[in-house]
Amino acid sequence: MAGTERALCIALHDVAPPTWQLCQKLIAAVAQVAPVPLTFLVVPAYHHHGECQGDADYFAALEQARSQGSELALHGYTHLDEGRRPDCTWNFFWRQVYTRGEGEFAALGVEQARQRLAWARECFARRGWQAQGFVAPAWLLSEGSWQALREAGFGYTTSFSRFYLLREGRSLFAPSLVYSSRNGWGSALSRSGTSVSAQLLRAAPLLRLALHPQDANHRSTLLHCQRLVEQLLQTRDAMTKMEFAQRWSARCHDDASPNRFRASDRPV
Ligand SMILES: [Zn+2]
Repeated sequence: MAGTERALCIALHDVAPPTWQLCQKLIAAVAQVAPVPLTFLVVPAYHHHGECQGDADYFAALEQARSQGSELALHGYTHLDEGRRPDCTWNFFWRQVYTRGEGEFAALGVEQARQRLAWARECFARRGWQAQGFVAPAWLLSEGSWQALREAGFGYTTSFSRFYLLREGRSLFAPSLVYSSRNGWGSALSRSGTSVSAQLLRAAPLLRLALHPQDANHRSTLLHCQRLVEQLLQTRDAMTKMEFAQRWSARCHDDASPNRFRASDRPV
């Protein structure tokens, strides 16, 4: 089936009421290129700004996107790393500096992770939504979080470089293209890096473009993103992560598949 051979998933990270204005700019920019479905990575209580709250327009927009073929997946609960203090310099750098303290599931124990997954799902259930996918903030999962996630019954998760079918126990190399838009300097660097990566990763069956609200602050990043999407759509089918998971799952009947992962293979 052609779709899973050369697919493109465009994910919009950190979707929440406080980021919604910027998210809308990204949605509009992609829509100008083509009417492709997106995967919205929704954070129900982003930075504790109103737990499961939002105005009617926000929820109506998400509902409309869903009805038009986009996917609503869960992306943590608060998007804040509130786990125990980092215990070594490397952990400190990774959790507090590199991810700016937003790797919510980076250091949780299994019980804490179960609780946050349950809270997040409860917020979705109140809207009548059920997420098939869960993507950890900053793609960081502790051992306990990985255990809780495998038990929770989601269909898939993704790390920075892999896509995991949780029920089937399969994973696939599926690299992400990401802009780093914390400042103009980083943004310019990542724009050239993103083009290079796209060239190098041409052969990957699934390429993921991860857009973050801050990307919308840089007009040049928006323009670059539009050109990149246009280019990638010449050789790839755009689909939601859920659709990719379903298509791949339908083909997962061969137990000898080299893509099997073991319970101990925590995404990194
Ligand atoms: Zn995020």
